[in-house]
Amino acid sequence: MDQKGQGTLEYALIVALVAIIVIAALAYLGFHLNNIYYSMVEVLLSNCESVTESVYDYGGSLPPGALTGTGKFRWPTEGYITQKSWHCHHAVDIANSEGTPVYAADSGYVVVAGWRESGYGNTVIINHGNGFQTLYAHLSAISVSAGQSVVKGQRVGLMGNTGYSTGPHLHFEIREGSKLCNPLEFVSPP
Ligand SMILES: [Zn+2]
Repeated sequence: MDQKGQGTLEYALIVALVAIIVIAALAYLGFHLNNIYYSMVEVLLSNCESVTESVYDYGGSLPPGALTGTGKFRWPTEGYITQKSWHCHHAVDIANSEGTPVYAADSGYVVVAGWRESGYGNTVIINHGNGFQTLYAHLSAISVSAGQSVVKGQRVGLMGNTGYSTGPHLHFEIREGSKLCNPLEFVSPP
């Protein structure tokens, strides 16, 4: 190969390489911009400090056969983490396509199953009877009703985009008493 031919080949290779890197970077950024955007919307609309509402305990008597939690939580759905716990967001957001099943992180009984005006949208809250409660927000469908006993791993609803949310994801909280915990200190993605 002569000098000129080799130069052209090198040039073409470099151009191809740069093009691949640029396309990959744009795809990566586009994917994450969407996540960053809807994470911000959730936090901005919920006004930081008032991001969470207090949980009202189930008013009725303890349902017959109400289960107590094992104390060990399971990851509540499949997906990728789009927002971790921080000052304005005491929860973890897990994104996937709408309709992805959401599971009880531990056994207990349902204290809330319905629409919340606070931005959570369709919400399920489970009291685990051991001082812990877990909350599942933005659901597209709810599969349980208040007062119902649930087993760890039982489906409680489907991932959705209801309330202050701009993309399908699960907003998952773990509460110890009235304290909002960092869920990632209790449970990790599989
Ligand atoms: Zn969230």
